[in-house]
Amino acid sequence: MNKIIELAEENILHTYNRYQIVLDHGKGTRLYDSEGKEYLDFFSGIGVYALGYGDKELNDAIKAQVDKLVHCSNLYYNEPAAKAAKKLCDLTGMDKVFFTNSGAEAVEGALKAAIKYAYLKDGRHDHEIIALDHSFHGRTIGALAVTGKAAYREDFAPFVADVKFGNMNDLDSVKNLINDRTCAIIMETVQGEGGIYPANKEFIEGIYKICNEKDILLILDEIQCGLYRTGSVYAWQQYDIKPDIMTTAKALGNGVPIGAFILNKKVADSSLKAGDHGTTYGGNPLATATAGKVLELLESRKILDNVRNLTPYLEQKLDALVDKYDCIKERRGRGFMQGLELTDVAPGEIVNKGIDRGILMLTAGTNVLRLLPPLVITKDDINKMYEILDEVFAS
Ligand SMILES: *Cc1c(COP(=O)(O)O)cnc(C)c1O
Repeated sequence: MNKIIELAEENILHTYNRYQIVLDHGKGTRLYDSEGKEYLDFFSGIGVYALGYGDKELNDAIKAQVDKLVHCSNLYYNEPAAKAAKKLCDLTGMDKVFFTNSGAEAVEGALKAAIKYAYLKDGRHDHEIIALDHSFHGRTIGALAVTGKAAYREDFAPFVADVKFGNMNDLDSVKNLINDRTCAIIMETVQGEGGIYPANKEFIEGIYKICNEKDILLILDEIQCGLYRTGSVYAWQQYDIKPDIMTTAKALGNGVPIGAFILNKKVADSSLKAGDHGTTYGGNPLATATAGKVLELLESRKILDNVRNLTPYLEQKLDALVDKYDCIKERRGRGFMQGLELTDVAPGEIVNKGIDRGILMLTAGTNVLRLLPPLVITKDDINKMYEILDEVFAS
């Protein structure tokens, strides 16, 4: 294991302080390192492995597509992309899908669509976007800002549009930022990376109402909280709202890189047109055949029932830890997206102690222990998680 870590550190740019194990393979809700040690998975590759590891039916579908056609570019049609797009439209009640290779790329596309929509409406180049404190939407800078061809770029200026930040669940903090240049409000329905902060009903429905009144586009980033994790297909479906644009990724490929942004008819009809946006790989048959199968399996295996049935038990176990240990301030979350806010102890330390005892977890923000298990966990898995965490916190 140390040899592999050394090789990686010699050759891979050090932008991550990685945990000191090498993951090798997985089965169900368990992962194994290169020395054979078993770990209970409560991170699912950062919310990716919704169906767990080594799923035979999914792997067979992926292998069959590999033997058929991996890539064909967007210059031609392919059946898996058409079918996966139809499924996403059916699941969301929205109208048009653009497939990407990652979450950040889906966010980029969503922003481009919003800026173009506003530009076509009023011809201005000085639109503003409102985002929220603690939000996370990806790591790219706006690849377009450094793209030389004016025809690709001009309609979307300014590149790093003016962005103002309001606060989650503080409607006035957002209202106060709105002016006639505001073209979009982007937010996660449940903030992940920033510390597991779910939007409350009053806030998100208030945002939705203002957006409708002022024709400001509501962009919901469901890359982490979407796809069944919080107890509905997409988390926004638990509120009386509907986004104009939404993003999805992470669980969509169960590990095969794919994302998408999805538009309602209003935006699809009046924003990005032929030539305005593109990607070489995005929506290729391998990724979309995988996504199509993932969506099929999530549904046919009644994964939503598992999330809904086990959420109260998961929350009860986590609440028991909150009650028992002073260093846990509170639990926050929805469904299988849960965080424990810690005091006096760094979440990274808890994750490391968990690794020693055979569980993989995540941190979020500066003081939150984040749990994103595969959606196929059982009551036994939750009991095992509780036992290990009880030991870790006791130590
Ligand atoms: C992970 C994440 C992204 C970025 O996705 P990548 O695939 O890492 O580019 C964007 N938004 C949210 C809410 C995320 O959790």
